[in-house]
Amino acid sequence: MLPQAPTVDLLGLRVSRVTRSETMVFLHRFISSKQPHLVVTADATALVLAARDSEFLRIANQAALCTPDGTGLLWASRHLGCPLQERVSGVDLAEQLCADSAKSGFGIYFYGAQPGVAAAAADAMRRRYPGAWIVGVSHGYQATAEEEEAVVRDIQAKNPEVLLVAKGLPRQEKWIVQRMPELNVPLSMGVGGSFDVFSGRVNRAPAWMQRCGLEWFYRLVQDPSKTAKVAALPEFVVRVLRRERMNSEG
Ligand code: UDP
Repeated sequence: MLPQAPTVDLLGLRVSRVTRSETMVFLHRFISSKQPHLVVTADATALVLAARDSEFLRIANQAALCTPDGTGLLWASRHLGCPLQERVSGVDLAEQLCADSAKSGFGIYFYGAQPGVAAAAADAMRRRYPGAWIVGVSHGYQATAEEEEAVVRDIQAKNPEVLLVAKGLPRQEKWIVQRMPELNVPLSMGVGGSFDVFSGRVNRAPAWMQRCGLEWFYRLVQDPSKTAKVAALPEFVVRVLRRERMNSEG
């Protein structure tokens, strides 16, 4: 049994109290364990989603790690009296895994995003980290159950140590949990829009905007279809402040 990371409770979601480097140590342990592990990277919309979707809440709370993927979570953790140290984002972890794969030789499979994007993301990572061992890619828009079975069979055939699933939250986590027993991949992680970023299809917000918690604004300007996600942010702020008031009233 591996040691567990400490967690903090944010509106019912158990978020791991880990730094980025501690998270990487956990990820490498999961890979070596050869047992299946799910890692969730939760942002502010994940917290709102967890309050509305009990299946997602259960999955996230049973995950091997649930990292704080957003300055919104750090803000919430301070208001709720259980401060988290730093942001641990899915896109950063995915990139670090590619870099480490070039050194350690473990295999990574990219599943998700629009046709062509996962392949372009894999090419970009191989160029950036020569030797990165990306063993297979599939896009995330299967129209039939047969097409989805073909993806599962391809993952089984490529036998990766790491499966990165970029289908958006909570679809990716539900897919991983449903398929985990037959895939038997040691480390599976939902990584949202990471392949869009790696492939250059979408730019990441400048570092100063990320630090100020304005990444959502940058993403909205680039892709107005994100309006529904951003619309969850006021609810997130209200829920956190309401809980803070309840806590202070005892
Ligand atoms: N996506 C997918 N299959 C679907 C729906 C979405 O592969 O059926 C992909 C989409 O193309 C995008 C990613 O999932 O690359 C979602 O990115 P987003 O930034 O919205 O992720 P989130 O912030 O929801 O985790």
